[in-house]
Amino acid sequence: MNILMAEPRGFCAGVDRAIQIVEKALEKFGAPIYVRHEIVHNKAVVDALKEQGAIFVKEITEVPHGAAVVFSAHGVAEVVYEEAAKKELKIIDAACPLVKKVHKSAKRHDSKGRTIVLIGHDGHPEVEGTKGQIDGDMILVSSPEEVASVEIDDSHALAYITQTTLSTDETKDIIAALKLKFPRIEGPEMGDMCYATTNRQMAVRELAEKVDLLLVVGSSNSSNSKRLSELGSQLGVESHLIDSKDHIDPSWLVGKKQVGISSGASAPEHLVQGVVAWLKENTDIESVESSVTMEENVKFNLPEILR
Ligand code: SF4
Repeated sequence: MNILMAEPRGFCAGVDRAIQIVEKALEKFGAPIYVRHEIVHNKAVVDALKEQGAIFVKEITEVPHGAAVVFSAHGVAEVVYEEAAKKELKIIDAACPLVKKVHKSAKRHDSKGRTIVLIGHDGHPEVEGTKGQIDGDMILVSSPEEVASVEIDDSHALAYITQTTLSTDETKDIIAALKLKFPRIEGPEMGDMCYATTNRQMAVRELAEKVDLLLVVGSSNSSNSKRLSELGSQLGVESHLIDSKDHIDPSWLVGKKQVGISSGASAPEHLVQGVVAWLKENTDIESVESSVTMEENVKFNLPEILR
């Protein structure tokens, strides 16, 4: 059996920055550092930071007055800032700059009086944060079918924005359905998907042509990781999303010749290498090669408070 490793895969610049932010905050301010929501959607990352002294909370009410709090890479609603300010918390925002860009678009559309359609998944923290950038409501749609039930007075100015970690294909279909129903709607041609989401999906698309099994390393609550595994399945390749080598079911490997491996933007490389090591130990691996779709060299600066 041969292993083909998707490139690019794994950590994106926003995740790398968010993890560094928690580590630097621990160095600078000492433990504990409170983190609102999982800093990135990966259990191994969260567990490692917990060991270093990070305390993960769901709400600002759980953070003691005056403590240091990090907001996760997914971004937060304006009201969360207000709650934190009321408790005089030291705020360190790890929201990805590419999520912040979507927040800015939301505010710009709102200031021009446009009704905003948000393409995204209900309940995802990024969606909650983006919805909370404006005082009024946004209309959330997550599939082309849902567009049919969107009722907006067409005389209103309309705009759409998207979550950054969606399926590029599905988003294209949703945007097409919106444009068909509301020809004057404004928004980015390809949505607001970030470079990491787009590149990892392109790499999996190429990989899927060469493999008969796809293993995607990532947590089940990671949107971009889930999309990679779904894409593999849609392209006709048996695909599994696994947190680590411990979730490999040996029966998946029976009769397979080429195994493709990718990982979501929040999955650490050591977990990917753990999968490769497990395959080498438990199966007959002839080669491990890279399937390079493109190179990435995006980097984001740390917030000033930690530089
Ligand atoms: Fe930023 Fe994209 Fe990474 Fe999310 S997946 S943190 S939007 S670069």
